[in-house]
Amino acid sequence: MAEQAAEGFRQATPVMQQYLGIKEQYPDCLLFYRMGDFYELFFEDAVKAAGALDIALTKRGQHLGEDIPMCGVPWHSHEQYLARLIRQGFRVALCEQMEDPAEARKRGSKSVVKRDVVRVVTQGTLTEDSLLNARSFNHLVALAEAGGELALAWTDLSTGAFLLEAHSRERLAAALAALEPQELLISERLAERDEIIDAIAEWKQALTVLPPSRFDSVGGAKRLAAIYGVGTLDAFGDFSRGEIAAASALADYVALTQRQERPPLMPPRRPEGGASMDIDAATRRNLELTRTLSGERKGSLLSAIDRTRTGAGARLLSGWITAPLTDATAINARLDMVGYFYQETHRREAARSLLSRAPDLERALSRLALGRGGPHDLLSVRRALDIALQLRNELLADAGLTPLPEGLAGAAAALGGFEALVGRLEEALVPEPPFLARDGGFIASGYNGALDELRQLRDESRRVIAGLQASYAGETGISTLKIKHNNVIGYFIEVGQAHGDRLLQPEMRERFIHRQTMAGAVRFTTTELADLERNISEAAGKALGLELQLFAELVDLVANERGALMSAAQALALADTVSALAELAEEQGYCRPQVEDSLAFTIVRGRHPVVEPALKAGGETPFVANDCDLSAEQRLWLITGPNMAGKSTFLRQNALIALMAQAGSYVPADSAHIGIVDRLFSRVGAADDLARGRSTFMVEMVETAAILNRASARSLVILDEIGRGTATFDGLSIAWATVEHLHEGIGCRGLFATHYHELTQLAGKLSSLSCHTMKIREWQGQVVFLHEVAPGTADRSYGIHVARLAGLPSAVVSRAELVLSHLENGDQARSVERLAEDLPLFAAVRAEPKVAALPPQGAAVLDALDTADPDRLTPREALDLLYRLKEMSGAT
Ligand code: ATP
Repeated sequence: MAEQAAEGFRQATPVMQQYLGIKEQYPDCLLFYRMGDFYELFFEDAVKAAGALDIALTKRGQHLGEDIPMCGVPWHSHEQYLARLIRQGFRVALCEQMEDPAEARKRGSKSVVKRDVVRVVTQGTLTEDSLLNARSFNHLVALAEAGGELALAWTDLSTGAFLLEAHSRERLAAALAALEPQELLISERLAERDEIIDAIAEWKQALTVLPPSRFDSVGGAKRLAAIYGVGTLDAFGDFSRGEIAAASALADYVALTQRQERPPLMPPRRPEGGASMDIDAATRRNLELTRTLSGERKGSLLSAIDRTRTGAGARLLSGWITAPLTDATAINARLDMVGYFYQETHRREAARSLLSRAPDLERALSRLALGRGGPHDLLSVRRALDIALQLRNELLADAGLTPLPEGLAGAAAALGGFEALVGRLEEALVPEPPFLARDGGFIASGYNGALDELRQLRDESRRVIAGLQASYAGETGISTLKIKHNNVIGYFIEVGQAHGDRLLQPEMRERFIHRQTMAGAVRFTTTELADLERNISEAAGKALGLELQLFAELVDLVANERGALMSAAQALALADTVSALAELAEEQGYCRPQVEDSLAFTIVRGRHPVVEPALKAGGETPFVANDCDLSAEQRLWLITGPNMAGKSTFLRQNALIALMAQAGSYVPADSAHIGIVDRLFSRVGAADDLARGRSTFMVEMVETAAILNRASARSLVILDEIGRGTATFDGLSIAWATVEHLHEGIGCRGLFATHYHELTQLAGKLSSLSCHTMKIREWQGQVVFLHEVAPGTADRSYGIHVARLAGLPSAVVSRAELVLSHLENGDQARSVERLAEDLPLFAAVRAEPKVAALPPQGAAVLDALDTADPDRLTPREALDLLYRLKEMSGAT
C-alpha cells in the first residue's frame, strides 16, 4: 500500500505532488485546496463533500491510471459550504496560496505556487459570526486526568476566554451538561474507561479523541508558561495537575488548528463566583433551561427571561442560568447589581439604549487576535469603546438614590481609559470600512501623508485619462471614441468597426497602437495611455501595500491592550445582563430573593416564569400564584391531585425560582427566602432514551437512582410521578421506598407529586412529610381546576375526566367509568374476572346511548338490570327489583 502511494506520488504532476504531500498531514480533514478563486477538493474528499453539499462531482486529470474525482466551492462564498460541512461533523483544513502566482512563474513556467494549511476548522474552533449564534457560547472543552484527579478546561475561541476547573467523577456529567461542549477533547485512554464513557455519552457527536501524550501535566505546565511568557503558572492561580493537563491539551489543540505558535487565549482562570450548583443533564432537560424537551430555544427558561441587548450579554446570562452559584456572598453581589438597575430606572433606560448599539467587542477582538479580523472589526472596537465610555459616564454621574454596588463600580472602572486608542481609530478609519482588508479603501484621508499622496497620484491620473478621451475624440473626429478598462488588457481606446479602419491608416498608426479587433469594435492604446496606466497601477499597488501596513499597525495597537479591552468587553456584558434582569423583574413583577446559607425555602405567591407569560400571551385565565414552605418540619411535600391540575407546573416553578435566585436574578414571587441549594434534581415526565438503548422506565429509574445516590441534605429534589412506567404495585412500592429514603436517609428539601394516594398514609409516620393537594371544584358533573395548592390529600385523580376532555370516544370513556367503579368497589380480583367476561367492545357499543348519558353511579343500576332475568322473576321479586332500582337511582 505504502509502495503504491509512493509510486503514485512519483508519477503525479507537480501540483498533485504538492496536494498529496499536504493531504498526508491532514488525513482526518477534508482538504480545501485553494486554486485561484476556488477551493478544490480531490479524491475521497471530493466524493464526501459533493455528497454532503449536494454539488457536482467532476474529474480532473488522472492518477495511477484512474480519473481523479474533484469538486469545488467558490472562495467568496465558501463560508456557507464550510458551515454545512462542519454541522455534519466534518473537519476542514483550509489550504491557501502563500504567494502571488506571478512570483511562482518567476521561478520557471513549471513551478507550483507555494501552498500551506492556514487553519483547521472544527466545530469547537469556529470564530466567524456567520457560522456562530451570537447569543450562545461555542465551547471547546478538554477533559483530562492527572494524579487521579479529573479536570475540565474550556474556551470559546470566538472570545478567547480560557477557564478550568477540577471535578469529581460524580460531578463530571453535570459539569459537561452545563458547558454543552461543541467539541470535547479527550485522550484515547480516558475515552475507554467505563465511568468516563457514561459521563460523556451525551457528547458522543462532539468527541475528538487525541493521543494521551497531549494530556501530559508536567510538559503541559512548561508549555503554558512559555505561551504566556511567565516563569511559572502560579501567577494565574494555584492549579492542580489535572487542570494543567486539560488546559495544556486545549491550548495545544488551538495552536494546532489555528496554526499559531501562541494561541490567542486569555490567561487561564477558574470560573468567577466559585463553585456552581450541581445540575445534571436530565434535570436541565426536564426543567427546560436553555432548550425545551423538543429541542427548541423558544419556550425555554432562558428565552422567556432574556432581555439582554447584546450577544455578549446574552452569552453571560446563559452562563449564569446554566451554572447558578452556591456562594451566598457572590449571589448577593449579583443581586445588588440587578437591584441597582431595578431602582434606578432612568439609568437603566439610558444604559440599555446605549447597549443596544454596542457591537460584539469580544468577538471582534478575538478575530483580530487570530489574524482573521478586518477593518470592520477595528470599527467595532472603536464603536464599542465609544459606548463603553458613555456608559461609564452614565454610571459615574452624580450619585443616584442607590449607591453604585461594588460590581458595577468595578465595571465602570474597566470601561474607561481607552481615549488614545479610540482617538487613533477615529482618525484612521473611514466611516463605513469594508469587512476585508485585502482590497484597501478603509484608511481615512488625512491619516497618513504618504498614502494621501499615492491616492492623489492615482486619482489624478484617472482624471487625466478622462481628459484624454475628450482630446482623442477631438483629434480624430470620432465623437463615439471611448477609453475603457478591463482586467485583462487594462486601459484601452475603443471605437466602432467603421472608425477602426480610419485609425489603422498609416498616418494614425504611429499614434494609435492596435490591441484587439472585436466583433463591431476595435481597440487601441497610446504610449501616453500606457504610461498613465503604469502610474495608476503602481500608485494603487503602493497605496494598498501601505494601507495593509497601517492596518497591521492598528491591529498591533489593539493587541497591546487586549487584556484591558477584554475586561471592558466583560464589563459591557455584565452591565447588559444585570440591567436586562432588572428590566425583566419590573416588567414581570418579580421580587428580590433573600439568599443565605440556611436550609430555608419559603416562597410566597410563587409563579412559573415561563407558563405565566405564556398564559398571558394566549389571553387565557391568569396564572394562579402558590406558596411553598419547605421549612424543617415540612421539608418534604407530598402532592396529590387530579391530572391537569397543575402539579408539574408547581414543582418546576419552585425549582426554577431556586435556580434563578442563585443565578443572581429576581424571582417570580411576592417574596422568596432560599437557603443555598447545592444540587438541584428534577425528575419530571417520561422519555425514552433510545439512543442509549434505554426504555422509558429504565430512564426513569436511572434518573431516580442518580438522585437518591447523590442528593445531600442541602439539595432540592423535585420528583414527579415516580414509578408510573411499571406495574401498579411495583411502581407504588418504589415510590413508597423513595419517599422514605428522601425523608429518612437524605433529609433534603423536596416536592414529590404522585397519583398513588396510598402514599399519603406515610404522613402519619414521617414527621417532616407534609401532604398537599391541588384544589378542584366539581360543578354540574364537571371538574374545574383551580390550580391552587392547599394542605390535605386528594381522594381521586379524575383521570377519566381528563380523558374525556382530551376527546377519547365516549364509548371508551363510559366503559372506563364502569371499570373504575368495579375496581373501586370491592374485591378487585372478582371484578376483573367479571369485566373480562363482558367483552368491552360489545358492552361499550351496546351500552353507549344509555351509559354515555348516565353519571357514574348509573353503572350500578345497569349492573343490577344486567344480572336480573325477567322470565324467572316472581311478581313480588319484580316489584322488589323495581324498588331497589328506584332507590339506587334516587341516590344518584
Ligand atoms: P399531569 O398529572 O397530567 O401531568 P399536572 O397536574 O402535572 O398534570 P400541569 O401539567 O402542571 O398539570 O398543568 C396543566 C396545565 O394547567 C398547564 O399547562 C397550565 O396551562 C395550567 N396550569 C398549571 N398551573 C397553573 C397555575 N398555577 N395557574 C394557571 N394555570 C395553571
